[in-house]
Amino acid sequence: MSNLSAQCSFCSITSSQNTPLISGADGYICEACVQLANQVIKTWGGKQTINEDWDLPTPATIKARLDDYVIGQDLAKEILSVAVYNHYKRLYHDNKEVNLTDNDVEISKSNVLMLGPSGTGKTLLASTLAKIVDIPFAIADATTLTQAGYVGEDVESILVRLLTVANGDMGRAEWGIIYIDEIDKLAHTQESSTVERDVSGEGVQQALLKLVEGTSVKLPLKRQRDNTTVMMDTHNILFIVGGAFSKLEEHVTKRLKLLQPTIGFHAALKNKKKISAEHLLVETQPEDLRHFGLIPEFIGRFPILAILEELDEAALVRILTEPRNALVRQYQKLFAYENVELEFTSEALSAIATKTLARGTGARGLRGIQEQLLRRCMFDLPSRNDVARCIVDEEAVNGTGEIQLIAVEE
Ligand code: ADP
Repeated sequence: MSNLSAQCSFCSITSSQNTPLISGADGYICEACVQLANQVIKTWGGKQTINEDWDLPTPATIKARLDDYVIGQDLAKEILSVAVYNHYKRLYHDNKEVNLTDNDVEISKSNVLMLGPSGTGKTLLASTLAKIVDIPFAIADATTLTQAGYVGEDVESILVRLLTVANGDMGRAEWGIIYIDEIDKLAHTQESSTVERDVSGEGVQQALLKLVEGTSVKLPLKRQRDNTTVMMDTHNILFIVGGAFSKLEEHVTKRLKLLQPTIGFHAALKNKKKISAEHLLVETQPEDLRHFGLIPEFIGRFPILAILEELDEAALVRILTEPRNALVRQYQKLFAYENVELEFTSEALSAIATKTLARGTGARGLRGIQEQLLRRCMFDLPSRNDVARCIVDEEAVNGTGEIQLIAVEE
Protein backbone atom coordinates (compact mmCIF):
# COMPACT_ATOMS: atom_id res chain seq x y z
CA MET A 1 0.00 0.00 0.00
CA SER A 2 1.38 3.41 -0.91
CA ASN A 3 0.71 6.84 0.58
CA LEU A 4 1.80 9.86 -1.49
CA SER A 5 2.28 12.31 1.40
CA ALA A 6 4.11 9.91 3.72
CA GLN A 7 7.79 9.58 4.56
CA CYS A 8 9.91 6.45 5.10
CA SER A 9 10.32 6.03 8.87
CA PHE A 10 13.93 4.86 8.36
CA CYS A 11 15.47 7.25 5.81
CA SER A 12 12.80 9.97 5.64
CA ILE A 13 12.47 9.87 1.88
CA THR A 14 9.12 11.27 0.79
CA SER A 15 6.75 9.04 -1.06
CA SER A 16 6.43 9.68 -4.80
CA GLN A 17 5.40 7.78 -7.91
CA ASN A 18 8.97 6.47 -8.23
CA THR A 19 9.31 5.79 -4.52
CA PRO A 20 6.25 4.01 -3.23
CA LEU A 21 6.20 3.25 0.49
CA ILE A 22 4.92 0.22 2.34
CA SER A 23 2.86 1.27 5.33
CA GLY A 24 2.92 -0.41 8.72
CA ALA A 25 0.91 0.13 11.90
CA ASP A 26 2.90 3.24 12.91
CA GLY A 27 5.06 4.16 9.95
CA TYR A 28 6.32 3.53 6.45
CA ILE A 29 9.30 1.88 4.77
CA CYS A 30 10.76 2.33 1.27
CA GLU A 31 12.16 -0.37 -1.04
CA ALA A 32 15.79 0.68 -0.46
CA CYS A 33 15.42 0.31 3.31
CA VAL A 34 13.75 -3.09 2.93
CA GLN A 35 16.71 -4.28 0.89
CA LEU A 36 19.23 -2.80 3.30
CA ALA A 37 17.47 -4.44 6.23
CA ASN A 38 17.52 -7.73 4.36
CA GLN A 39 21.29 -7.46 3.91
CA VAL A 40 21.84 -6.61 7.54
CA ILE A 41 19.81 -9.64 8.63
CA LYS A 42 21.92 -11.89 6.43
CA THR A 43 25.06 -10.90 8.29
CA TRP A 44 23.63 -11.35 11.79
CA GLY A 45 25.68 -13.72 13.88
CA GLY A 46 28.68 -13.19 11.59
CA LYS A 47 27.56 -16.06 9.38
CA GLN A 48 27.06 -15.69 5.68
CA THR A 49 24.38 -17.42 3.72
CA ILE A 50 25.71 -20.54 2.09
CA ASN A 51 24.11 -22.93 -0.25
CA GLU A 52 23.85 -26.16 1.73
CA ASP A 53 24.68 -28.28 -1.26
CA TRP A 54 27.58 -26.18 -2.45
CA ASP A 55 29.77 -28.73 -4.12
CA LEU A 56 33.29 -27.43 -3.60
CA PRO A 57 35.55 -29.03 -6.20
CA THR A 58 38.72 -30.77 -4.97
CA PRO A 59 42.14 -29.27 -5.81
CA ALA A 60 42.60 -31.92 -8.51
CA THR A 61 39.24 -31.02 -10.09
CA ILE A 62 40.00 -27.30 -9.89
CA LYS A 63 43.35 -27.90 -11.59
CA ALA A 64 41.76 -30.07 -14.29
CA ARG A 65 39.18 -27.36 -15.02
CA LEU A 66 41.91 -24.71 -15.13
CA ASP A 67 43.62 -26.89 -17.75
CA ASP A 68 40.65 -26.33 -20.06
CA TYR A 69 41.35 -22.60 -20.19
CA VAL A 70 44.96 -21.98 -19.19
CA ILE A 71 47.92 -23.52 -20.97
CA GLY A 72 50.99 -24.60 -18.98
CA GLN A 73 51.72 -22.93 -15.63
CA ASP A 74 51.24 -26.26 -13.85
CA LEU A 75 53.05 -25.17 -10.71
CA ALA A 76 50.94 -22.02 -10.32
CA LYS A 77 47.76 -23.97 -11.07
CA GLU A 78 48.55 -26.50 -8.37
CA ILE A 79 49.35 -23.81 -5.79
CA LEU A 80 46.21 -21.82 -6.61
CA SER A 81 43.95 -24.88 -6.62
CA VAL A 82 45.09 -25.81 -3.13
CA ALA A 83 44.86 -22.21 -1.86
CA VAL A 84 41.33 -21.72 -3.18
CA TYR A 85 40.19 -25.12 -1.96
CA ASN A 86 41.57 -24.53 1.55
CA HIS A 87 40.11 -21.06 1.71
CA TYR A 88 36.59 -22.15 0.87
CA LYS A 89 36.81 -25.38 2.85
CA ARG A 90 37.64 -23.28 5.93
CA LEU A 91 34.77 -20.89 5.30
CA TYR A 92 32.40 -23.74 4.62
CA HIS A 93 33.20 -25.42 7.91
CA ASP A 94 33.20 -22.13 9.84
CA ASN A 95 29.83 -21.40 8.34
CA LYS A 96 28.37 -24.78 9.20
CA GLU A 97 30.06 -24.69 12.59
CA VAL A 98 31.28 -28.18 11.92
CA ASN A 99 34.49 -28.41 13.86
CA LEU A 100 36.10 -31.67 13.11
CA THR A 101 39.21 -31.24 15.19
CA ASP A 102 40.49 -28.76 17.70
CA ASN A 103 38.17 -25.89 18.61
CA ASP A 104 41.08 -23.54 19.31
CA VAL A 105 42.81 -23.95 15.99
CA GLU A 106 42.08 -21.04 13.74
CA ILE A 107 43.10 -21.47 10.14
CA SER A 108 44.44 -18.25 8.69
CA LYS A 109 43.51 -16.89 5.30
CA SER A 110 45.52 -18.03 2.30
CA ASN A 111 45.89 -14.89 0.21
CA VAL A 112 48.03 -15.45 -2.85
CA LEU A 113 50.78 -13.41 -4.49
CA MET A 114 51.29 -14.32 -8.15
CA LEU A 115 54.55 -13.46 -9.78
CA GLY A 116 55.08 -13.73 -13.50
CA PRO A 117 55.76 -11.76 -16.66
CA SER A 118 52.99 -9.81 -18.36
CA GLY A 119 50.59 -11.85 -20.49
CA THR A 120 51.40 -15.23 -18.96
CA GLY A 121 47.94 -15.87 -17.55
CA LYS A 122 47.82 -14.33 -14.06
CA THR A 123 44.50 -12.57 -14.57
CA LEU A 124 43.16 -15.47 -16.58
CA LEU A 125 44.00 -17.90 -13.76
CA ALA A 126 42.35 -15.73 -11.10
CA SER A 127 39.17 -15.13 -13.10
CA THR A 128 38.91 -18.79 -14.17
CA LEU A 129 39.29 -19.91 -10.55
CA ALA A 130 36.40 -17.68 -9.52
CA LYS A 131 34.28 -19.18 -12.30
CA ILE A 132 35.15 -22.73 -11.24
CA VAL A 133 34.13 -22.23 -7.61
CA ASP A 134 31.20 -20.02 -8.67
CA ILE A 135 32.22 -17.03 -6.60
CA PRO A 136 31.88 -13.29 -7.41
CA PHE A 137 35.13 -11.93 -8.79
CA ALA A 138 36.40 -8.36 -9.09
CA ILE A 139 39.59 -7.12 -10.60
CA ALA A 140 41.56 -3.92 -10.04
CA ASP A 141 44.77 -2.40 -11.24
CA ALA A 142 47.01 -1.30 -8.38
CA THR A 143 48.39 1.59 -10.41
CA THR A 144 44.97 3.24 -10.62
CA LEU A 145 44.32 2.96 -6.88
CA THR A 146 44.96 5.85 -4.54
CA GLN A 147 44.73 6.23 -0.83
CA ALA A 148 41.63 8.02 0.46
CA GLY A 149 41.83 11.75 -0.08
CA TYR A 150 43.90 11.55 -3.28
CA VAL A 151 42.45 11.98 -6.75
CA GLY A 152 41.67 8.61 -8.29
CA GLU A 153 40.00 5.37 -7.40
CA ASP A 154 40.21 4.52 -3.70
CA VAL A 155 40.62 0.94 -2.57
CA GLU A 156 37.05 0.66 -1.37
CA SER A 157 35.85 1.01 -4.95
CA ILE A 158 37.00 -2.59 -5.51
CA LEU A 159 34.51 -3.72 -2.89
CA VAL A 160 31.73 -1.78 -4.57
CA ARG A 161 32.61 -3.59 -7.80
CA LEU A 162 32.55 -6.97 -6.05
CA LEU A 163 29.13 -6.20 -4.59
CA THR A 164 27.87 -5.17 -8.03
CA VAL A 165 29.18 -8.40 -9.58
CA ALA A 166 27.35 -10.30 -6.81
CA ASN A 167 24.15 -8.48 -7.86
CA GLY A 168 24.01 -6.75 -4.50
CA ASP A 169 24.04 -10.04 -2.58
CA MET A 170 26.25 -9.08 0.35
CA GLY A 171 26.58 -12.66 1.60
CA ARG A 172 28.06 -13.79 -1.72
CA ALA A 173 30.22 -10.69 -2.14
CA GLU A 174 31.78 -11.21 1.28
CA TRP A 175 32.98 -14.61 0.10
CA GLY A 176 34.28 -13.31 -3.20
CA ILE A 177 37.70 -13.17 -4.81
CA ILE A 178 39.48 -9.89 -5.54
CA TYR A 179 42.40 -9.81 -7.94
CA ILE A 180 44.74 -6.82 -7.90
CA ASP A 181 47.15 -6.60 -10.80
CA GLU A 182 50.45 -4.68 -11.08
CA ILE A 183 51.04 -4.85 -7.35
CA ASP A 184 54.78 -4.47 -7.96
CA LYS A 185 54.19 -0.99 -9.41
CA LEU A 186 52.86 0.41 -6.16
CA ALA A 187 56.02 1.91 -4.84
CA HIS A 188 59.14 3.66 -5.91
CA THR A 189 62.27 1.58 -5.43
CA GLN A 190 65.89 1.57 -6.49
CA GLU A 191 65.08 -1.22 -8.94
CA SER A 192 62.13 0.46 -10.58
CA SER A 193 63.21 4.06 -10.70
CA THR A 194 60.92 4.72 -13.67
CA VAL A 195 57.81 4.24 -11.58
CA GLU A 196 56.39 7.70 -11.14
CA ARG A 197 53.97 7.44 -8.31
CA ASP A 198 55.32 6.65 -4.90
CA VAL A 199 53.89 9.34 -2.65
CA SER A 200 50.67 7.47 -2.11
CA GLY A 201 52.05 4.02 -3.03
CA GLU A 202 52.71 3.07 0.55
CA GLY A 203 49.42 4.64 1.58
CA VAL A 204 47.63 2.39 -0.91
CA GLN A 205 49.40 -0.64 0.54
CA GLN A 206 48.32 0.39 4.02
CA ALA A 207 44.74 0.86 2.84
CA LEU A 208 44.79 -2.49 1.04
CA LEU A 209 46.36 -4.12 4.07
CA LYS A 210 43.33 -3.21 6.15
CA LEU A 211 41.01 -4.84 3.64
CA VAL A 212 43.18 -7.94 3.36
CA GLU A 213 43.46 -8.34 7.13
CA GLY A 214 39.71 -8.06 7.43
CA THR A 215 37.68 -5.03 8.34
CA SER A 216 34.19 -3.63 8.04
CA VAL A 217 33.87 -1.01 5.35
CA LYS A 218 31.03 1.40 4.79
CA LEU A 219 30.15 1.45 1.11
CA PRO A 220 27.88 3.83 -0.77
CA LEU A 221 24.88 2.10 -2.23
CA LYS A 222 23.59 3.20 -5.62
CA ARG A 223 20.09 4.49 -5.03
CA GLN A 224 17.93 7.39 -6.10
CA ARG A 225 19.57 9.42 -3.34
CA ASP A 226 23.24 9.31 -2.54
CA ASN A 227 23.52 9.01 1.23
CA THR A 228 22.61 5.34 1.64
CA THR A 229 25.45 3.14 2.82
CA VAL A 230 25.92 -0.53 3.49
CA MET A 231 28.54 -2.37 5.58
CA MET A 232 30.82 -4.95 4.02
CA ASP A 233 33.02 -7.30 6.01
CA THR A 234 36.23 -8.24 4.19
CA HIS A 235 37.46 -11.02 6.52
CA ASN A 236 36.46 -13.83 4.21
CA ILE A 237 37.33 -12.28 0.87
CA LEU A 238 40.19 -14.08 -0.85
CA PHE A 239 42.75 -11.61 -2.15
CA ILE A 240 45.01 -12.56 -5.02
CA VAL A 241 47.57 -10.00 -6.08
CA GLY A 242 49.86 -10.25 -9.07
CA GLY A 243 52.74 -8.52 -10.72
CA ALA A 244 55.62 -9.03 -13.12
CA PHE A 245 58.34 -8.44 -10.48
CA SER A 246 60.59 -8.24 -13.49
CA LYS A 247 63.96 -8.41 -11.82
CA LEU A 248 63.05 -10.86 -9.09
CA GLU A 249 64.91 -13.76 -10.65
CA GLU A 250 68.06 -11.69 -11.11
CA HIS A 251 67.73 -10.45 -7.58
CA VAL A 252 67.28 -13.88 -6.00
CA THR A 253 70.11 -15.31 -8.09
CA LYS A 254 72.42 -12.48 -7.02
CA ARG A 255 71.59 -13.00 -3.38
CA LEU A 256 72.14 -16.73 -3.62
CA LYS A 257 75.44 -16.31 -5.42
CA LEU A 258 76.61 -14.03 -2.66
CA LEU A 259 76.27 -16.95 -0.31
CA GLN A 260 79.33 -18.44 -2.05
CA PRO A 261 78.33 -22.04 -1.68
CA THR A 262 80.35 -24.86 -3.13
CA ILE A 263 77.85 -27.66 -3.18
CA GLY A 264 74.25 -28.32 -4.15
CA PHE A 265 71.78 -26.08 -5.88
CA HIS A 266 73.53 -22.85 -4.96
CA ALA A 267 76.74 -24.08 -6.53
CA ALA A 268 74.89 -25.12 -9.68
CA LEU A 269 73.57 -21.58 -9.92
CA LYS A 270 77.04 -20.20 -10.44
CA ASN A 271 77.15 -21.67 -13.92
CA LYS A 272 73.52 -21.06 -14.72
CA LYS A 273 71.80 -17.90 -15.86
CA LYS A 274 68.19 -18.93 -15.34
CA ILE A 275 66.57 -20.78 -12.48
CA SER A 276 63.33 -22.72 -12.77
CA ALA A 277 60.05 -21.41 -11.40
CA GLU A 278 60.12 -24.18 -8.81
CA HIS A 279 63.55 -23.11 -7.52
CA LEU A 280 62.62 -19.46 -7.65
CA LEU A 281 59.58 -20.28 -5.54
CA VAL A 282 61.63 -22.12 -2.96
CA GLU A 283 64.33 -19.48 -2.80
CA THR A 284 62.27 -16.27 -2.84
CA GLN A 285 62.35 -14.57 0.54
CA PRO A 286 60.24 -11.67 1.82
CA GLU A 287 63.33 -9.47 1.61
CA ASP A 288 63.43 -10.04 -2.16
CA LEU A 289 59.89 -8.71 -2.44
CA ARG A 290 60.75 -5.72 -0.27
CA HIS A 291 63.06 -4.57 -3.03
CA PHE A 292 59.98 -3.92 -5.13
CA GLY A 293 58.68 -1.50 -2.56
CA LEU A 294 56.22 -3.84 -0.88
CA ILE A 295 56.03 -3.14 2.84
CA PRO A 296 56.77 -6.08 5.18
CA GLU A 297 53.26 -6.14 6.67
CA PHE A 298 51.78 -6.38 3.20
CA ILE A 299 54.12 -9.22 2.17
CA GLY A 300 53.25 -10.98 5.42
CA ARG A 301 49.58 -11.10 4.43
CA PHE A 302 50.38 -13.01 1.25
CA PRO A 303 51.95 -16.20 2.54
CA ILE A 304 51.30 -18.15 -0.63
CA LEU A 305 53.46 -17.44 -3.65
CA ALA A 306 52.65 -18.70 -7.12
CA ILE A 307 55.23 -18.25 -9.84
CA LEU A 308 54.29 -18.21 -13.50
CA GLU A 309 56.75 -18.97 -16.23
CA GLU A 310 57.51 -17.06 -19.39
CA LEU A 311 55.58 -18.58 -22.31
CA ASP A 312 57.67 -20.02 -25.13
CA GLU A 313 56.72 -20.48 -28.79
CA ALA A 314 55.26 -23.95 -28.26
CA ALA A 315 53.06 -22.66 -25.41
CA LEU A 316 51.83 -19.76 -27.56
CA VAL A 317 50.87 -22.17 -30.35
CA ARG A 318 48.92 -24.23 -27.82
CA ILE A 319 47.23 -21.06 -26.52
CA LEU A 320 46.16 -20.27 -30.08
CA THR A 321 44.46 -23.59 -30.58
CA GLU A 322 43.79 -25.58 -27.40
CA PRO A 323 41.78 -23.65 -24.77
CA ARG A 324 37.98 -23.86 -24.96
CA ASN A 325 37.78 -20.34 -26.31
CA ALA A 326 41.12 -20.36 -28.13
CA LEU A 327 41.64 -17.48 -30.53
CA VAL A 328 41.79 -19.71 -33.60
CA ARG A 329 38.48 -21.30 -32.64
CA GLN A 330 36.94 -17.87 -32.11
CA TYR A 331 37.97 -16.66 -35.57
CA GLN A 332 36.88 -19.97 -37.13
CA LYS A 333 33.46 -19.42 -35.63
CA LEU A 334 33.31 -15.85 -36.93
CA PHE A 335 34.22 -17.07 -40.42
CA ALA A 336 31.72 -19.93 -40.16
CA TYR A 337 28.97 -17.32 -39.78
CA GLU A 338 29.92 -16.29 -43.35
CA ASN A 339 29.95 -19.96 -44.41
CA VAL A 340 33.72 -19.85 -44.81
CA GLU A 341 36.12 -22.39 -43.38
CA LEU A 342 39.23 -20.84 -41.82
CA GLU A 343 42.38 -22.90 -41.72
CA PHE A 344 45.86 -22.20 -40.36
CA THR A 345 48.85 -24.31 -41.40
CA SER A 346 51.03 -25.41 -38.48
CA GLU A 347 53.86 -23.25 -39.90
CA ALA A 348 51.50 -20.26 -39.83
CA LEU A 349 50.73 -20.88 -36.16
CA SER A 350 54.44 -21.05 -35.33
CA ALA A 351 55.05 -17.84 -37.28
CA ILE A 352 52.28 -16.08 -35.32
CA ALA A 353 53.87 -17.30 -32.08
CA THR A 354 57.32 -16.10 -33.16
CA LYS A 355 55.95 -12.67 -34.05
CA THR A 356 54.14 -12.50 -30.71
CA LEU A 357 57.27 -13.43 -28.77
CA ALA A 358 59.10 -10.53 -30.40
CA ARG A 359 56.53 -8.14 -28.96
CA GLY A 360 57.42 -9.23 -25.43
CA THR A 361 53.89 -9.01 -24.08
CA GLY A 362 53.31 -12.72 -23.64
CA ALA A 363 50.10 -14.19 -25.01
CA ARG A 364 48.54 -10.75 -24.87
CA GLY A 365 50.03 -9.95 -28.29
CA LEU A 366 48.35 -12.90 -30.03
CA ARG A 367 45.02 -11.22 -30.58
CA GLY A 368 46.43 -8.08 -32.16
CA ILE A 369 48.48 -10.09 -34.62
CA GLN A 370 45.52 -12.30 -35.59
CA GLU A 371 43.28 -9.29 -35.99
CA GLN A 372 45.78 -7.58 -38.28
CA LEU A 373 46.31 -10.75 -40.27
CA LEU A 374 42.63 -11.47 -40.86
CA ARG A 375 41.38 -7.90 -41.19
CA ARG A 376 41.25 -7.83 -45.01
CA CYS A 377 39.35 -11.15 -45.14
CA MET A 378 36.92 -10.01 -42.45
CA PHE A 379 36.30 -6.83 -44.45
CA ASP A 380 35.75 -8.60 -47.80
CA LEU A 381 33.99 -11.84 -46.97
CA PRO A 382 30.62 -10.47 -45.82
CA SER A 383 30.11 -8.97 -49.29
CA ARG A 384 31.13 -12.11 -51.18
CA ASN A 385 29.59 -15.54 -51.49
CA ASP A 386 32.12 -17.23 -53.75
CA VAL A 387 34.65 -18.19 -51.03
CA ALA A 388 34.49 -21.57 -49.29
CA ARG A 389 37.81 -21.66 -47.44
CA CYS A 390 40.59 -19.34 -46.31
CA ILE A 391 44.01 -20.85 -45.76
CA VAL A 392 46.54 -18.92 -43.71
CA ASP A 393 50.13 -20.04 -44.27
CA GLU A 394 53.53 -18.88 -43.04
CA GLU A 395 53.98 -16.44 -45.95
CA ALA A 396 50.68 -14.75 -45.19
CA VAL A 397 51.74 -14.29 -41.56
CA ASN A 398 55.15 -12.92 -42.51
CA GLY A 399 53.70 -10.55 -45.10
CA THR A 400 55.44 -12.23 -48.05
CA GLY A 401 52.22 -13.76 -49.37
CA GLU A 402 48.44 -13.54 -49.19
CA ILE A 403 45.81 -15.61 -47.42
CA GLN A 404 44.63 -18.19 -49.97
CA LEU A 405 40.96 -18.00 -50.84
CA ILE A 406 39.45 -21.24 -52.13
CA ALA A 407 36.38 -20.76 -54.28
CA VAL A 408 33.03 -22.43 -53.71
CA GLU A 409 32.64 -25.43 -56.04
CA GLU A 410 30.04 -24.86 -58.75
P1 ADP B 1 48.68 -11.33 -17.10
O1 ADP B 1 47.59 -11.07 -16.11
O2 ADP B 1 49.65 -12.38 -16.67
O3 ADP B 1 49.37 -10.10 -17.60
P2 ADP B 1 46.49 -12.26 -18.71
O4 ADP B 1 45.97 -13.38 -17.88
O5 ADP B 1 45.72 -10.99 -18.69
O6 ADP B 1 48.01 -11.97 -18.40
O7 ADP B 1 46.62 -12.77 -20.22
C1 ADP B 1 46.26 -11.98 -21.33
C2 ADP B 1 45.58 -12.87 -22.35
O8 ADP B 1 46.52 -13.81 -22.88
C3 ADP B 1 44.48 -13.73 -21.74
O9 ADP B 1 43.23 -13.16 -21.90
C4 ADP B 1 44.55 -15.02 -22.49
O10 ADP B 1 43.77 -14.94 -23.67
C5 ADP B 1 45.98 -15.12 -22.92
N1 ADP B 1 46.79 -15.98 -22.06
C6 ADP B 1 47.84 -15.59 -21.29
N2 ADP B 1 48.42 -16.61 -20.67
C7 ADP B 1 47.73 -17.71 -21.04
C8 ADP B 1 47.84 -19.11 -20.73
N3 ADP B 1 48.80 -19.57 -19.92
N4 ADP B 1 46.94 -19.95 -21.29
C9 ADP B 1 45.97 -19.49 -22.11
N5 ADP B 1 45.82 -18.19 -22.46
C10 ADP B 1 46.68 -17.31 -21.93
